[in-house]
Amino acid sequence: MPRLVMKFGGTSVANVERIRNVARHVKREVEAGYDVAVVVSAMAGKTNELVGWVKEANSLYDSKEYDVVVASGEQVTSGLLAIALQEMGIKARSWQGWQIPIMTSDAHGSARIADIDGSGIIEGFETKKEVAVVSGFQGVHQETRRITTLGRGGSDTSAVALAAAIGAERCDIYTDVDGVYTTDPRIVPKAQRLDKVSYEEMLEMASLGAKVLQVRSVELAMMHRVPTYVRSSFDDPADPKLGTLICDEEDIMEQQVVTGIAYSRDEAQITLRNVADKPGVAASIFVPLADANINVDMIIQVVSDDTTTTDITFTVPSAEYERACAVLNAHKHEIEFRDLQGATDVVKVSAIGVGMRSHAGVAARAFKALADKGINIRAITTSEIKFSVLIDSAYTELAVRTLHSLYGLDKT
Ligand code: ADP
Ligand code: ASP
Ligand code: MG
Repeated sequence: MPRLVMKFGGTSVANVERIRNVARHVKREVEAGYDVAVVVSAMAGKTNELVGWVKEANSLYDSKEYDVVVASGEQVTSGLLAIALQEMGIKARSWQGWQIPIMTSDAHGSARIADIDGSGIIEGFETKKEVAVVSGFQGVHQETRRITTLGRGGSDTSAVALAAAIGAERCDIYTDVDGVYTTDPRIVPKAQRLDKVSYEEMLEMASLGAKVLQVRSVELAMMHRVPTYVRSSFDDPADPKLGTLICDEEDIMEQQVVTGIAYSRDEAQITLRNVADKPGVAASIFVPLADANINVDMIIQVVSDDTTTTDITFTVPSAEYERACAVLNAHKHEIEFRDLQGATDVVKVSAIGVGMRSHAGVAARAFKALADKGINIRAITTSEIKFSVLIDSAYTELAVRTLHSLYGLDKT
């Protein structure tokens, strides 16, 4: 029988009534002839609550124990969904990450899946006709046998990885929107649902802030060529509607130049003023940051007014902003800068589209449109299928809407 993985996010399992509705979606696919593995998230808000308790217990918590606490949210929903399915007359059992097992690295709090043994789940399909209800977000580290979690939003990754491991025909990601939109529909009401989006574009959209799928899940879908379908859990289970298929670029007939706009508030800007303009200066800044495991994203260097020094501006994740400033100040003598100026009230707005490979001037049009709205650009980066601008966060919505209309993405 063909196999299917169905994943339900937090809002879709927010209470027992919604879990019953999820069970109806599962029942439909079982009746259609699929062997189904369901991956569930914790109930909406649960993971935040658990993280809050950990931080309350100790702000400098042990990440191994953090994982023990936060992984518990998914255990609750997997058991509840198995019960709801049984009540509907469908054989089902829950699986925790360690029971399957889903083996991960030991990077507690953001572990990577190393291997999934799908044999127990497949045996359940073949010998018992049993639906597998799998706790998302969690795994186990092979040597230490300790529980791990995959980072926020990690149930998407559990689902795609499981689909690859059991050779599922498709991975359906059920969420609170009916697909991937041209931009976050919560901030742009004119955003449109995409019927299809390529793996490459989805990867950029997720990396650049579209929280609808965890980045790692898209990487895995692309690597293992898992057709991934984003759709709404709020559809009537008896009459499900369309969603968005994430698939190969070749399978998409009509390509726009720009497919989507994303934004990320998770950026902070640092400018080092009057750095001595001599060979080795970039290394003196970025090597200590790399040694401290701080990712640098956008970088711009400009000659200062006095022409013998330079100003260097770059961005770091906002969560690392303070640590980055501390590292730079500790290396002030080697780097030889005069001032460090920082800003955390910035946002990175990006446009993504494989059509940029074959069209010139796509970004230039954006710079003009943003300037016309009086939006100042602090930094720019471009690559083959996307460009990003860093702007004041107060202009987030205006900038996203401006670019969304500029590239003809508004719903008519
Ligand atoms: P779940 O709990 O089901 O995993 P998430 O909250 O993680 O759901 O992801 C769904 C949310 O992603 C949507 O409610 C939407 O606000 C947001 N989102 C951001 N960008 C996009 C986009 N381009 N298309 C669809 N949703 C998006
Ligand atoms: N419950 C986890 C989180 O909120 C994982 C997930 O929902 O994907 O981050
Ligand atoms: Mg999510």
